[in-house]
Amino acid sequence: MDLGLRGKKGIVCAASKGLGRGCAEALAEAGVDLVICARGAEALEATAAAIRAAHGVKVTAVACDITTPEGRAAVLAAAGPEVDILVTNAGGPPPGQWTDWSRDDFIKALDANMLTPIALMQAVLPGMMARGWGRVVNITSVSVKAPVAVLGLSNSARAGLTGFVAGTARQVAGKGVTINNLQPGMHATDRAVSLDQGAARAQNISEDEARAQRWAQIPAGRYGTSAEFGATCAFLCSQHAGFMVGQNILLDGGATNSTM
Ligand code: NAP
Repeated sequence: MDLGLRGKKGIVCAASKGLGRGCAEALAEAGVDLVICARGAEALEATAAAIRAAHGVKVTAVACDITTPEGRAAVLAAAGPEVDILVTNAGGPPPGQWTDWSRDDFIKALDANMLTPIALMQAVLPGMMARGWGRVVNITSVSVKAPVAVLGLSNSARAGLTGFVAGTARQVAGKGVTINNLQPGMHATDRAVSLDQGAARAQNISEDEARAQRWAQIPAGRYGTSAEFGATCAFLCSQHAGFMVGQNILLDGGATNSTM
């Protein structure tokens, strides 16, 4: 299927690895010129070079922390005034206990996983609306749909972002701009490996056994891949998805047991 995106310009945040990289790869395959960012310059440059080589699109790498005002300014400056596609992403807040989190912990989580994507949307939405076309995809989490007990900071911040999107998506849709959220369940990224390792240590079992236990909780019987995730993101950004507005798309292999 031709996604109708050749020649568009996109920003993909936090994209040197994992789900962000999956989105960048899929958009590049569809012909989108990209600005990508991550904090670590070496991995970011390597990813940018690999995407350029594979897909022949323009890829500008901006090494920065997207959760800071300076980082966002650098990414937006590199992208220029005509951004067609924005994919927001950043690392998730650390796990912990609801009893222990301070105001500062909440402010950090809100800054990274709610206020950063909101600031980026506020920066690019007016231009998209003026040009009559735009796509925003926010990478949130399954934790918005089904809370993860130890991820209360994530549950809170991402639910806040989801509320903002629900209201805002309906105010920009009339100008040809869609905003939707992708909710990842367990995917085979570095994060999954470290969770497997933690589970293995906690139970004194091998990493393979820990992974098998976790796979058994997913009806699909495996983790998702960044490529699958990226393909869904690219579809949401495509010409074909213009009637999808303010949706939360769960990609979890069926792990969340619910009817809708
Ligand atoms: P990952 O494999 O660890 O990759 C994270 C990427 O984001 C890296 O490129 C990292 O590079 C970059 N990054 C992190 N913090 C950043 C920051 N402040 N500024 C700029 N770049 C940053 O993570 P992932 O598994 O793809 O997860 C992506 C998001 O989805 C996270 O918020 C995670 O909580 C959420 N999520 C993931 C899963 C899953 O199964 N993978 C499930 C639910 C939710 P640098 O470290 O060099 O900055």
